[in-house]
Amino acid sequence: MAKAGRNGADRAPRGLDVLRDPVLNRGTAFTEAERDELGLRGLLPPHVHTQSEQAERFLITFRKLADPLDKFVALNALHDRNEDLFFQILVDHIDEMQPIVYTPIVGLACQKFGQIFQRPRGMFISIRDRGNIAKVLRNWPYQAGIIVVTDGERILGLGDLGAHGMGIPVGKLSLYTACAGIHPTQCLPVTLDVGCNNEAVRNDPFYVGLRQKRVTGKEYDDFIEEFVTAAQEVFPGVVIQWEDFANHNAFRLLENYRDRVSSFNDDIQGTAAVALAGIFSALRITGQPLTDQRVLFLGAGEAATGIADLIASAMVSQGMALDQARRNCWLVDSKGLVVKSRKDLAHHKLNYAHDHPPVTDFLEAVRKLKPTAIIGVSAVGGTFTREIIEEMAKLNERPIIFALSNPTSQSECTAEEAYRWSGGRALFACGSPFDPVTVHGQTFVPRQGNNSYIFPGIGLGAIACKAKVITDDMFMKSAHTLAQLVTESDLAQGSLYPALPRIREVSAHIAAAIATAAKDSGIAGRLAGQEMLKEIEAQMYDPHQ
Ligand code: NAD
Repeated sequence: MAKAGRNGADRAPRGLDVLRDPVLNRGTAFTEAERDELGLRGLLPPHVHTQSEQAERFLITFRKLADPLDKFVALNALHDRNEDLFFQILVDHIDEMQPIVYTPIVGLACQKFGQIFQRPRGMFISIRDRGNIAKVLRNWPYQAGIIVVTDGERILGLGDLGAHGMGIPVGKLSLYTACAGIHPTQCLPVTLDVGCNNEAVRNDPFYVGLRQKRVTGKEYDDFIEEFVTAAQEVFPGVVIQWEDFANHNAFRLLENYRDRVSSFNDDIQGTAAVALAGIFSALRITGQPLTDQRVLFLGAGEAATGIADLIASAMVSQGMALDQARRNCWLVDSKGLVVKSRKDLAHHKLNYAHDHPPVTDFLEAVRKLKPTAIIGVSAVGGTFTREIIEEMAKLNERPIIFALSNPTSQSECTAEEAYRWSGGRALFACGSPFDPVTVHGQTFVPRQGNNSYIFPGIGLGAIACKAKVITDDMFMKSAHTLAQLVTESDLAQGSLYPALPRIREVSAHIAAAIATAAKDSGIAGRLAGQEMLKEIEAQMYDPHQ
């Protein structure tokens, strides 16, 4: 059956207009009847291929490409040509494709964004659009259900890439569709271009953004406010996911808008839920209670404080006082251990600034604090040294070691290092993918503690029940749900997360859990029925159909 066209189109598109629209185009998979109905006779070669045959054809050429950036470009071009085919390939080969459309390769693609640019995707809204943002948003031809928005100031661990950060919202929304079945036309990637403070990026002859320094202060805040108001006006109830904003804006924006509109910050809250789920899985192996854990973070930014907040909330939900729960979490930033006597601490670190003499070195902090878990979210590669991992293995029978920084070059240690240096005892999770490792005859299968286990399900659930706001409780529920889906055989091979090919099942369960939470707490804008999981599954876009 021919698919519906864009908002406001006077008549259904036909002929070349169909073939040139990636949402409508099915290439040689158009059936005989569709070819008649859409005026495609003669515009396509006569043989009808199934979409699966098209996928097979694409993969033959794709897999011959040696350079991951070439793979990214090939996938991106397919995305621009035929969305159903693109998403079928993503869904059916998620293990192979996710590292390309998302971390780590999307990081490289953002760094080369200007050079590989072919067609715009999503919306670029610049500071020059001030006063007209609603009008600009109306140029988008679909009814958006979820917006992923960045200002490009802190892209992964790569710093300020300005408008070249657009690769991240695009990649992330591809995962919302592939991993949670949110229809592609409901997904709107947005870059707010307020300038770029990275001179090298600005001076790149192929830079696509404004060649000016970043606008800050009231001008910046007013611009964001206009964007949020306009987005709600043009797409009522749209979910807004803040993405890769620098610390000084990320925490403020989350706080300013979390009680006003359906919004969340994945770097802070999604990461927290995935890390907490990994800890729940690790504790299934050790049999220890959460409240006995001492967690030391390398890094004290969005990911670290987000994770620490959720771990503390989880401890509180198990009966511990909040103050005590926070004292079980310690942060080390680029200047050393975060302690009360330090005068240089940003606001988001203060809850974890405990009474302790200064410590400048992470190894020394491990020796002094004797953590049961270390979590690397510093964006500095190789910082979990052999000595640190050996020390953790001395202190703990099963040390929890999460190297969550992306991309791979920024990972605090590799899977091989974690398993080998701990004598195969580490309970390990990583931000970027690593191959299985065999130590002392046992093969470990490390899985990514990647927020892609969480955010697609959160988005799907929030859209499904029209959640008026997105609460911390929903992230807690999503962590529990994810951990419950880890099987005994996953745990036996050291995997703290379910296999990635189960991601649509995971997302549906998370969506059902958070929609139920929204309904129970009266923040669901739409009444969801009793059989939440079935209702959610029925709404999921399936590119095979
Ligand atoms: P951020 O910029 O907010 O925080 C980085 C923190 O690291 C800062 O507190 C900084 O002071 C600290 N730091 C820098 N150099 C350090 C050093 N040498 N020693 C100790 N601390 C140091 O960034 P973020 O959003 O918290 O992200 C951090 C990393 O985590 C990035 O690489 C990001 O890609 C990764 N991340 C991974 C996931 C995931 O799902 N696996 C999710 C979010 C973020």
